[in-house]
Amino acid sequence: MVVQPNSPHPQTGCSALSGAPADYPCGSQDLGDGVFAWWQPNGSWGEANAGLVCGRGTSLLVDTLWDDRLAGAMLSAFAAPLHDAPLDTVLTTHRDGDHWWGNVAVPSSASIVATRSAAAEMAGEPPPSAMARLRRLAGLGTSLPGPIGRVGRYSRVMLAPFAFDGLTLRQPDETFEGHRAFDVGGRAVEALEVGPAHTEGDAVVHVPHAGVVFCGDVVFAGVTPVVWSGPVTNWIAALDRCLTLDADRFVPGHGPLAGRTEVGALRDYWIWLLEAGGAEHEAGRSPRQAARRLVATDGFGAFRHWQAPERLAINLVQLFRERDGLPPLPTTAANRLRLFRDVAELAALLER
Ligand SMILES: [Zn+2]
Repeated sequence: MVVQPNSPHPQTGCSALSGAPADYPCGSQDLGDGVFAWWQPNGSWGEANAGLVCGRGTSLLVDTLWDDRLAGAMLSAFAAPLHDAPLDTVLTTHRDGDHWWGNVAVPSSASIVATRSAAAEMAGEPPPSAMARLRRLAGLGTSLPGPIGRVGRYSRVMLAPFAFDGLTLRQPDETFEGHRAFDVGGRAVEALEVGPAHTEGDAVVHVPHAGVVFCGDVVFAGVTPVVWSGPVTNWIAALDRCLTLDADRFVPGHGPLAGRTEVGALRDYWIWLLEAGGAEHEAGRSPRQAARRLVATDGFGAFRHWQAPERLAINLVQLFRERDGLPPLPTTAANRLRLFRDVAELAALLER
């Protein structure tokens, strides 16, 4: 991962949170009909998007980013639409901190809603203090030789832009299963549970009058996805479900605004992984061996230019567990460390 600190992109005028030039515009975008998106280029680790739907006298926010400082900046940028349509509901698409640790920045009168599965996962996630500790450890390890130094340097870049120290969490106030309809000041909005895919409790938010879907991490656009739960076939089914909705604009959890083509490209990635990764598993190789082989294949060429292609290392671990009839890898610190050791190793190989 090459970072050029604070170098805005000549066209977009933005820097990514990592400090790299932004490949696409950042901040708020009016999508029309009272619908807004919030973009955080370049969609890599923690650079998550969010969205807002405003109706008469009330509004619904989709996701709140990775810390209260980022969420506060987003709410300030949305001040004009929020003035006439105060926030009533926050829909959390899934359990990953980069989509809800900013919940503390929203007014306490707003109700936080997530799927029942997501709420259970959110309650069990390691807290921000653990992430702050991990970041300090990563900083200490950066000068060490070998895999420890590599994972230290990788994690330091990944965690540097975020304010975890002293951050408190706000858990959901309400949960749902299957689907939940909202009347946002006369505008119908529907949250649909489509997990398990990226995580156990994934949901997407359909805004029919604007033809928009806020996809959370069910859609990554131009960014390599990462499967924490799966099965992969269910993620493909979730994408197919998104494509059946009356919409032509898909706000991904990470990456720029997507259309049907970009959603289809993500589907292609999973089909490729099932086939190519499945063959590696069949041949008795380890996920680590498979990753090193697959990045050298023509099939991977279509996805190599996406952000964070090294996430393939995690996707193969989860796919192989699936094939072995094992549950998703538990999210313990030791497991995460092992996964990120493989990710950092693959990143170094891809940079050569
Ligand atoms: Zn995310």
